[in-house]
Amino acid sequence: MNRMFSNEHTVRSTGYATVAAQAGGNPADVSILALRDLAKSYLTPAGEFTALAGIDLDVRRGELVAVVGRSGSGKTTLLNLLAGIDTPTAGQITVAGVAVHALRGSRLAAWRGRNIGLVFQFFQLLPTLTVAENVMLPMDFCATWPARERRSRALDLLRRIGIGEQADKLPSALSGGQQQRAAIARALANDPPVVLADEPTGNLDSRTSDAVLELFATLAAEGRTVVMVTHEREVFRYATRQVTLADGRITADTGVGAGAGPARTAPSAGGAR
Ligand code: ADP
Ligand code: MG
Repeated sequence: MNRMFSNEHTVRSTGYATVAAQAGGNPADVSILALRDLAKSYLTPAGEFTALAGIDLDVRRGELVAVVGRSGSGKTTLLNLLAGIDTPTAGQITVAGVAVHALRGSRLAAWRGRNIGLVFQFFQLLPTLTVAENVMLPMDFCATWPARERRSRALDLLRRIGIGEQADKLPSALSGGQQQRAAIARALANDPPVVLADEPTGNLDSRTSDAVLELFATLAAEGRTVVMVTHEREVFRYATRQVTLADGRITADTGVGAGAGPARTAPSAGGAR
């Protein structure tokens, strides 16, 4: 198989290749994300606000999960917990066997840098760095590759993702779709097993959105695990599974498309299983 985005260099991260190796005979059986009775509350001036409660979820390697739900239902909170950007109030998050809920500070940051690729709605590229330099940043942060290899690895990722010619431009010289591709290349810099995207097509026109969704589908087909918050109806052509949040709880979890994951629908609104 032609692995578009896998790295040809020696893998020094704890990333995707390690998880693939640990998976042994049948990688698809491995639950790479496991959430158990996860909850997140915020302290607000009005008192404690429960943004997520009773979240149980298992995601297998190679799934592309679309997380949907109204504004305020807890989608970004869920993604931030998965990414270790935020810590849960209660419950457990295990990613590729690592108890992420127990990590703090620099250990959490180091874990995130190697294991999670993040993509945001507004790209969040650093405006004063070139596209290639943006892609090199996570490699610099984690020292996953020797300094002399980082630029060629960044150029390689950008080429594979279809914007090789843009490498030495500033992000502002690129179209929205090109900037999002650059952000995806940056997310892949350390070869993470898990890619998380929060409304990644929310700022793109529909044709560009389709191309970006297709990129995420390719990543999942290669064995990465993708969890994507989206309003995009088109995502259902690419996703294997749809998880619906309402008021901080999972109200539905259904397989969609080919190769769908474990389909299950909650018995009632508010039921997390
Ligand atoms: P979504 O991404 O689905 O729109 P969020 O996860 O951003 O929802 O937010 C879920 C709920 O938690 C919302 O009601 C939001 O106002 C609240 N919330 C999110 N972040 C905070 C915070 N830092 N402090 C207090 N409330 C928050
Ligand atoms: Mg959100």
